[in-house]
Amino acid sequence: MIRRVHALSLVAVLVSTAVVALGQNQAFHVLAFHSKHVEQDHMDFAMLAIPFFEAMADRDHFDFKATSNWDDMNPRVLKQYQVVLWLDDVPSNSAQRAAFQDYMEHGGGWLGFHIAGYMDSRETWPWFADFLGTVFNGNSWPPLPATLMIDEPAHPAMKGLPASFVSPSNEWYCWQPNPRHSSNIKVLMTLAPSNYPLGFKDTLVGGDIPVSWTNTKYRMIYTNMGHDNKSLTNPVQNLFFENALLWLGGRLR
Ligand code: ZN
Repeated sequence: MIRRVHALSLVAVLVSTAVVALGQNQAFHVLAFHSKHVEQDHMDFAMLAIPFFEAMADRDHFDFKATSNWDDMNPRVLKQYQVVLWLDDVPSNSAQRAAFQDYMEHGGGWLGFHIAGYMDSRETWPWFADFLGTVFNGNSWPPLPATLMIDEPAHPAMKGLPASFVSPSNEWYCWQPNPRHSSNIKVLMTLAPSNYPLGFKDTLVGGDIPVSWTNTKYRMIYTNMGHDNKSLTNPVQNLFFENALLWLGGRLR
């Protein structure tokens, strides 16, 4: 009798372990939006990011597709995906914006790179300004490397990252208001004070400038990195991109 109880317990443990493993490896579907008629540097980033994420999808067992048709930003297509990526462009009309808003408000996931956060006026799309927690307010030029500091080492997207690292050259943006002061925004990484002044033609002179953050009301991460073909050359930063996507896909907790 005792032996039988032990055997049943063992079965229960094995079953529960299998369920956990299934949850961790559950397939999720990712759709990346990119554009073929934007700034050359931004197209270069997208052209490298697509094979980068395809390789990640093979390694981490999720489904990845890319499209340059932003009209795929509609409810019929979006409902097939758990995460969407914006590889350096943004929706261009009200139907695409409305579909994205509805998707995010019903549990969709979003990983936005670089110009995905660009909007020159809050009035263009007020919902997105609240979603992002800020509006673009300027940039550095030319692209330069910068030291980034981790704000939230306990966040799953920061798993395995050092307290700071040097990001490959990037066009760095500044924001108004500071997203750190917006409700529901949790800043993940910030430009280190040692970077300033950052830029020559256009210069970020100083201040608190976050580069990656999440809005805790949604499943989203915005990251300012992703300007050009250097953006995927740092293994630490690449680990952040991988963690971020796996977290949005429900794999990291
Ligand atoms: Zn750029």
